[in-house]
Amino acid sequence: MSEPTPHRDFIRTRVTADLKAGVVDRVVTRFPPEPNGYPHVGHAKAICLAFGLAEEFGGMCRLRFDDTNPAAESQEYVDAIQEDVRWLGFTWEGEPRFASDYFEQLYAWALELVDQGLAYVCDLSLEETRAYRGTVTKPGQNSPQRERSVEENRDLFQRMRAGEFPDGSRTLRAKIDMASPNMNLRDPVLYRILGARHHRTGDTWCIYPMYDWAHGQSDAIECVTHSLCTLEFENHRALYDWFLDHISAPCRPKQIEFNRLNVSYTITSKRKLAALVEHGTVDGWDDPRMPTLRGMRRRGYTPASIRNFVDTIGLSKVDGMIDMHVLEDHLRADLNQSARRAMAVLDPVKLVIENYPEDSEETFEALENPEDEAVGTRAVPFSRELWVERDDFRAEAPRKWHRLAPGKEVRLRYACYVTVTDFETDPETGAVTLLRATWDPESRGGSTPDERKVRGTIHWVSARHAYAAEVRLYDHLFRVPHAGKVAEGEDWTEQLNPDSLQVVTQAKLEPSLAAAEPGVPYQFERLGYFTLDAKESKPGAPVFLRSVTLRDSWAKFEQRLTQEAARKDS
Ligand code: ATP
Ligand code: MG
Repeated sequence: MSEPTPHRDFIRTRVTADLKAGVVDRVVTRFPPEPNGYPHVGHAKAICLAFGLAEEFGGMCRLRFDDTNPAAESQEYVDAIQEDVRWLGFTWEGEPRFASDYFEQLYAWALELVDQGLAYVCDLSLEETRAYRGTVTKPGQNSPQRERSVEENRDLFQRMRAGEFPDGSRTLRAKIDMASPNMNLRDPVLYRILGARHHRTGDTWCIYPMYDWAHGQSDAIECVTHSLCTLEFENHRALYDWFLDHISAPCRPKQIEFNRLNVSYTITSKRKLAALVEHGTVDGWDDPRMPTLRGMRRRGYTPASIRNFVDTIGLSKVDGMIDMHVLEDHLRADLNQSARRAMAVLDPVKLVIENYPEDSEETFEALENPEDEAVGTRAVPFSRELWVERDDFRAEAPRKWHRLAPGKEVRLRYACYVTVTDFETDPETGAVTLLRATWDPESRGGSTPDERKVRGTIHWVSARHAYAAEVRLYDHLFRVPHAGKVAEGEDWTEQLNPDSLQVVTQAKLEPSLAAAEPGVPYQFERLGYFTLDAKESKPGAPVFLRSVTLRDSWAKFEQRLTQEAARKDS
């Protein structure tokens, strides 16, 4: 159990006060998803809050599925949500719960309202109901059936349940106030007739409670003390309170709203995420570009990085947007600690060390993880022909260029010093096809033969020993920070980034990576963090995914040099 932090945010302050005042003696929270999609990074915030808070205050948190809409829900999502909550590192109290387990109780409470003259059966169609509702500036109109007698309402509602009426022909509505400035109080629908098979209750019901009728009461049935939810439910609170005031509910949860998480360059709308999957824009809910927890997991996000991220961004009462870099920085920070290092060349060009014997080879020792020397070392094979990164060579070196260029001495990471003496190009494209070089055997193993300064260090892979792989590089899914938000008549899918996936088919990897396991993070030196993809890798044909680029100070420094070089080149 972590320490409670009462002043960290308004919710923790409130809970601390409620405990102190004896309003509650134990904190009970819940995470209440609708099983109609896969959880995303926004849900992670709600999950961390509900479970984290209960943990901190020595209370408990439940998992409850608000499964009131059989048309959109399925067992597939129920399973996925459980898996993702567990993956984040949380355990719910007892068995998962379901609003559908409370259908009988909810029905009984609806009858209580009917008997008090507080609910009526309405014959308006969906469209008519909407039209009668009025607008924010215009009061609604009473339904023609609003004054039906209690007896008639009871009879009709029971017959609705018995399946006597066609789908959509009638609803049960609360009788509150059609002129209320809060639209949620304008005689909201409690039940609709829907002949759909429910993934848990099967064909038992042909009327289904609306989300608003089920959600708050489910919290009350479970004696949730603090019902945490996002800001869009703020003006539903009056309705939930009205319901609890008029039924024989066992408990009175306190609803507290907090801001939704929006992350730049991505979306957290289940509907839009589903559209991307349906239209094949991404290759499934677990596409590594998706902000879904399974997409992030596949890409190499760790539960710790997501939890730390959620901790950092905190809670407020205003919706805003968090920069994607904040999320990525948490991943970098976590992977920097845990990832083993390896070398890989993504855009290979061959470098031949002409004064190194053709039939010779040797190995150099490299640290597995400089952040954790206890992990030990690995042997990296070296030979006359190496792969190096095309971009690490310039035929004409700009000022301050510390990487390969004719006559320029450079350190090969862990190995030795080399100097390019000559190079070959493709006569048609002008692209460099081969680098010729010499090495200084005295520098073997990274020792410095004399006081001479060698500023640049590059990575490399022995051509003879290289392990070939496909590598997938990802960029933001959207080109714009406010992804998914468009003016009327505009198409949000036009904001998609056409270059969000780049496939490198012939990457050359250090041979130790042949033993890589899916889900284990590696830092490919100077290139970023990568992980082996369980889904797409085949025996002998590995696929590595880039989790996130490297942007430590070294990378930034290098980036500046490259930019300077580009300026000079142009
Ligand atoms: P829907 O439109 O289908 O209701 P939803 O994103 O609200 O979509 P739910 O399954 O109802 O999905 O969400 C479960 C819980 O997660 C709710 O309490 C909701 O408030 C919270 N939640 C959903 N999206 C976010 C988000 N972006 N940031 C924080 N919490 C979120
Ligand atoms: Mg919702």
